[in-house]
Amino acid sequence: MSDELWQRRLDRERQARKSAEHLLTEKSRELYQSAVELKHALAASEDQRRLQLALWGSGELIWEWQAQDNLMHLHYFSSQPGETLCETLLWSDWLQRLHPDDQGAALRDWNEHLCGSCDYYDLEFRARSTPNEAWRWLRTQGRAVERGSDGLAQRVTGTCKDISRQREAEEHLRLLAAAFANNRDANAVLASDKRVLQANAAFLELIGISAAQLPALQLDQLLLDADDQCPWATLSNTEHWQGELTCLRQNGQRTPVELSSTLVRSRDQQIGHLVLSLRDISERRRAADHLQHLARLDVLTQLPNRLQFQEHLQRALQYQPRDLYLALLFVDLDDFKQVNDAFGHDIGDALLQQVAQRLQKALRQRDLVARWGGDEFVVLLELRSQEQVLLVADKLIKALNEPMDLAGHILTATPSIGIALAPEHGNEAGDLLRHADAAMYVAKREGRNRYALYRPELNEQLVHRIKLANLLRRALAQQELSLALQPKIRLSDQRIVGAEALLRWDTREFGRVPPDTFIPLAEELGLIVPIGHWLVREAALLLNGWQAQGWPLTLAINLSARQLRDEQLLSVLCESMADCSAPPEALELEVTESILLEDAAFARQRLQALRDAGFRIALDDFGTGYSSLSYLKELPLDRVKIDRSFISDLEQSPRGRALLSSIAGLCRALSLQTTAEGVETAAQLQLVQAEGIDEVQGYYYYPPLTIDAFNRLLQTSHREA
Ligand code: C2E
Ligand code: MG
Ligand code: MG
Repeated sequence: MSDELWQRRLDRERQARKSAEHLLTEKSRELYQSAVELKHALAASEDQRRLQLALWGSGELIWEWQAQDNLMHLHYFSSQPGETLCETLLWSDWLQRLHPDDQGAALRDWNEHLCGSCDYYDLEFRARSTPNEAWRWLRTQGRAVERGSDGLAQRVTGTCKDISRQREAEEHLRLLAAAFANNRDANAVLASDKRVLQANAAFLELIGISAAQLPALQLDQLLLDADDQCPWATLSNTEHWQGELTCLRQNGQRTPVELSSTLVRSRDQQIGHLVLSLRDISERRRAADHLQHLARLDVLTQLPNRLQFQEHLQRALQYQPRDLYLALLFVDLDDFKQVNDAFGHDIGDALLQQVAQRLQKALRQRDLVARWGGDEFVVLLELRSQEQVLLVADKLIKALNEPMDLAGHILTATPSIGIALAPEHGNEAGDLLRHADAAMYVAKREGRNRYALYRPELNEQLVHRIKLANLLRRALAQQELSLALQPKIRLSDQRIVGAEALLRWDTREFGRVPPDTFIPLAEELGLIVPIGHWLVREAALLLNGWQAQGWPLTLAINLSARQLRDEQLLSVLCESMADCSAPPEALELEVTESILLEDAAFARQRLQALRDAGFRIALDDFGTGYSSLSYLKELPLDRVKIDRSFISDLEQSPRGRALLSSIAGLCRALSLQTTAEGVETAAQLQLVQAEGIDEVQGYYYYPPLTIDAFNRLLQTSHREA
């Protein structure tokens, strides 16, 4: 082959290869292009799927509106790719789904957006799809995507979301915030570094700062405990703490507050915040203090009361110096009840007030006097010697004995004072009080208006007394009481003209209890009144019996001051004597001068009433009491019984004889009968007779006899006569 031919062949081949290459490039380009397009298409559907999922996840729907048909297209999304639900409705129908209250705003904003006066359509409203559904809160946000040349929106699209739960949460938060802000308690939220982050108006007011000062405020400057320390450690370690603290106000004032604090932890359980709620309790404290003060004060006398005294006594015993005595005086007013009964409670109260003042005045500043209750007062003294306490007791008695003018009534108070000493008689408050009380009873029994010092044996006596008191309450019902009769002898003819009835009490436990023991006890317990009624009836029976025998005797019975005040006494006497064949004059009522002590005018009036009813009145134990001869003139008396103390020393004492003589003379002058009590010897009888005394009673003739013995005696004497 020639070179030329070879060359031509080569050129042809080259040409063919070139065109083949060209063809190949074009194809691959096309292929490449479609591959790229495919890839884009695939990416676009993936985006759409993602968008659909995102919209489904967010709970939003997409809507679209077009001006040309005024239709709303609503697109609801599902999680399945490509699954959407579309609803188309007129815009006006869409508006109808809104709550009537929200339609106005929806329309207004819509129109504004359509005409372009606002960029977005953004609205929260209530809506429902059907009338049976509940209203739900929705938020829609949309925007015109196409506007005409006139600026009016042609197409608007947007999203819409159910925000009911969010609204609910917001409402909840709003309420909480309002509660926090408007709470009348002072509320604050603190950071974990003690700074106050947030506080309400009440808090600012309590501390006395403005909101601007809040950031600078720390808990240390705010709350103090009893030791004046900030209780941070307690508060930051206790989930919920409640207690009373002191709040430091900005002006330096300290206010008691009640604090309630709660720890708020973060999700990882770290202390996030501390929520405080403070309440000013100054008023409550003041009221409580006042109540406590009142609770410790006696309202009537303004003295400390029993409670305060006991606290004071306990402290005094606890810190008693070694070289000092502590003396407890139990002061009880004698016969105070009678003041109340006779003059009324106002005078009784006034008397107690006077007593309180006098006790205070008579004591030193550091001594304590308190009202124990009723007519009882207690005094606590610190003294160097035992003798000193007796001097103080004496001083108190004198102070109370001074007459008091109470609304025109001149009265004197007489106290019975019991004294117990610490450490001698006990170191316990209870023991000392009991012992002073026991000693006070001794002072009463020994005659009142005096003091008695505690002795250990007094306790036994007190126990015995309590036992006796219990027995005495049952004595009448158990028929343990009886009468002894002591004959009365008329000196002119030496005949028995009557008897004095004397009470006897025979107990199973203690045998016979002497009248000097049980009569004061019966008085104290008020039992003397029923016992007296019984005795009056017995006396009437005796007189009736004697009358039936043809013995015109008199019977004397004893009446105490307490019995004389008994309103029923006169009627019981009259009723008992009404059934008796003997006249009232046959019954003689013996009273002592003590009846005049409290209210002489009242006693006189009572005696007069008794005498007017026909009973005879004798003044018993004359000469022992506060004998004033003027009594003899003033009282409606028939007889005077001269006390046995005058008779017993007649033989040895010329002075006694002179006294007897003058008493006898005075009685004669006043036409009063006389009886000499306790005549024991012939010599006494002779002297008594020489003074012209009318009657005698005494062991010289007869001791008190049983009723049977007395009746037998009378029978024989009448047989002899
Ligand atoms: P009183 O009324 O002065 O009674 C006389 C007291 O002297 C009686 O004591 C009697 O036993 C005692 N007595 C009589 N003659 C002699 C004597 O020659 N020598 C001595 N040493 N004593 C003599 P009694 O029975 O122990 O009564 C004591 C007091 O008890 C009475 O004194 C009277 O005040 C009171 N009392 C007795 N019975 C009653 C009563 O029924 N009611 C009231 N309220 N008191 C009464
Ligand atoms: Mg008598
Ligand atoms: Mg007498």
